[in-house]
Amino acid sequence: MQHLLDPSSWKSLTGWFAERGQPAFRAAQIRKWIFEGRAESFQGMSDLPKSLRDELAAGYQLWTSKVVRHLQSADGTEKLLLELSDGGRIECVLLRDGERRSICISTQVGCAMGCVFCASGLDGVDRNLTGGEIVEQMLLLQRLLPARERLSHIVVMGMGEPLANLENLLPALDEASAEDGLGISHRRITISTVGLPKQLQRLCDLNTRYHLAVSLHAPNDALRNQIVPVNKNIGLREIIHAADRYFEVSGRRLTFEYVLLAGVNDQLRHAHELAALLRSRQALLNVIPYNPVAGLPYKTPSPAAVHKFRDILVAAGINVKFRQRKGDEINAACGQLRRSEPALSQIDS
Ligand code: SF4
Repeated sequence: MQHLLDPSSWKSLTGWFAERGQPAFRAAQIRKWIFEGRAESFQGMSDLPKSLRDELAAGYQLWTSKVVRHLQSADGTEKLLLELSDGGRIECVLLRDGERRSICISTQVGCAMGCVFCASGLDGVDRNLTGGEIVEQMLLLQRLLPARERLSHIVVMGMGEPLANLENLLPALDEASAEDGLGISHRRITISTVGLPKQLQRLCDLNTRYHLAVSLHAPNDALRNQIVPVNKNIGLREIIHAADRYFEVSGRRLTFEYVLLAGVNDQLRHAHELAALLRSRQALLNVIPYNPVAGLPYKTPSPAAVHKFRDILVAAGINVKFRQRKGDEINAACGQLRRSEPALSQIDS
């Protein structure tokens, strides 16, 4: 059965209505129910004839995933663990920060990039998510908000490397930004990547206007090869060059991400090297003290180490923010919940 939330379904839906002698505006009615009305089923779409709702339910699937766990943290962060139709599992998060209602979504089941501190990539990648599965995360998270609140920001920073699944991600983001979709402007959508130069070039060619966040995690190739193994095949220079090019074409200020791992990349010399790498760039540096993952040896740096690291960057004139860790008590770092939960089949048996 076709997944209606898949961006490719809407074209066929128009034809489907035409075959049944239904007016073309029915598709717009359904989009409104889904993106604004937060409909949970076709039966709830009360301005459609009952017989049509039954036919739609027989021809199209609205939801393909099950919420396996829903965790809430005292700071307002909520996390969903979803089981997909083939049993694959992904995570997505709603973050509340003042007026902001941001979501963090996944693009793959697992991840092939192998960042050593990350739970998502521990077992490699299983598959890319479909466009429908990406949109579905957005809508499930939107449903956690009261009716008067809307999603304001999207960060594509959950499980997976987004640029490895551009084919399905970009149509899904089109739905997020469309007037008759979620209506979130491009400048409020951030794609986070370890930096795949060819795919970054593709974003330039397509003239996309999304924010780009490049995860550095190390200021030199020797260290980055250890922390982000995929770097061995690419190298920092090429990544930074591709990111600069994206900035030139899109006009969007770049963000660089740096997860601070105690005793690994938090030394003073690393801060100096990082400052030298970013000094000439109009960029924001987000430093995120590591969120420990069970079973992995990495640790959160001490507050003193964090302060020293920050002082060097600030003194060098780098535009740096140290991000608060949200949702610690619900394993908000990606991939952790998925690893700590038994599969549904295990629960059932
Ligand atoms: S940090 Fe991101 S890119 Fe790296 S392994 Fe985890 S999900 Fe993949």
